Amino acid sequence: MEKILVTGGVGFIGSHLCNSLLSDGFAVVCLDNLITGNRGNIKSLLTNPNFEFIEADVIKPLTFDYLNLKYIFHLASPASPIDYQNNSEETLLANSLGTLNILNIAKEIKAKVLIASTSEIYGDPLEHPQKEIYWGNANSFGPRSCYDESKRFAEAATYVFLNKYGIDARIIRIFNTYGPNMRKDDGRVISNFINWAINGLPIKIDGDGSQTRSFCYITDLVSGIKKAMFTDGTRGEIFNLGNPDEFKIGDLSNKIIELTDSKSEVIFSNSFRPDDPMQRCPDITKAKGILKWEPKVDLIDGLQKTIEYYKDLK
Ligand code: NAD
Ligand code: UDP
Repeated sequence: MEKILVTGGVGFIGSHLCNSLLSDGFAVVCLDNLITGNRGNIKSLLTNPNFEFIEADVIKPLTFDYLNLKYIFHLASPASPIDYQNNSEETLLANSLGTLNILNIAKEIKAKVLIASTSEIYGDPLEHPQKEIYWGNANSFGPRSCYDESKRFAEAATYVFLNKYGIDARIIRIFNTYGPNMRKDDGRVISNFINWAINGLPIKIDGDGSQTRSFCYITDLVSGIKKAMFTDGTRGEIFNLGNPDEFKIGDLSNKIIELTDSKSEVIFSNSFRPDDPMQRCPDITKAKGILKWEPKVDLIDGLQKTIEYYKDLK
């Protein structure tokens, strides 16, 4: 049985990935320091004999027997803006030292590795939709830069290890993804809006709600992540993974109010968040072509499943 390491495997995306890889017949080691992950996300996996959880920081040397790992998915990093701004130094370290640590292990044991980057490396984009060849418009010195710049460093480090040491690595740039297992207090827009709506609390929009995002349902993302790792010919490639259907944040709040049949009022703040990207939408032509991948779940279906999940948590 082939063995896989998932760093950040207790988190929102990582827990779904671990579950899916176990179903595919792999043995999975999940490494996580629980800084933003919810232990409950892996509760059902702990009884699986092919699953092992190791509570550890990815910036530290690995203490388990990693020599027979075939694949490494490196997802360990806070991802919600609230989380990474509250844990700014830890975020810098997870994406810099943590990525270097993982790249060195991949080099040592000749494992295939996938590095999770983000649409944030495009900053507040001046090109729309964003293609992988766009260099971005990111601020190196501001509240989001602990995340954006450390992810950019992770990409640069991957480039060096690919070219200097010939490792077998690929990068994915994940665009806004949502679904069950996202902590309800994680601060991201979909978890916030749904939980406010089902509790009848005011829905707070930063700015006038005209900023856009493109939302990918978690099952679609996980299938894209696996294709980026397992498809032949992906060494050295970068893939945008996200759903290209783009929505204004104001329209998202209306849809969630409608789907939850909520009486919540919508409140607009006076200003956008500092350095908030005003528009974001992936060009997924490359993933469609090479990975034969595209999202299948539309926003309404995905929101309904996510609403059910949060209602069941209450
Ligand atoms: P999450 O916060 O739910 O999960 C991240 C996990 O990594 C958590 O369990 C956390 O405890 C763990 N972690 C953080 N630092 C660590 C460290 N130093 N050592 C070990 N574990 C550590 O976030 P997520 O949404 O699941 O994001 C997973 C990955 O995907 C991240 O790399 C993130 O940057 C990337 N990403 C996510 C999105 C999205 O929309 N969800 C978008 C772009 C990129
Ligand atoms: N947002 C909002 N209210 C919230 C949370 C987020 O208006 O309670 C807005 C936020 O300002 C941003 C968008 O929704 O424009 C997406 O924010 P999120 O934190 O989900 O992630 P981002 O895409 O910024 O990383």
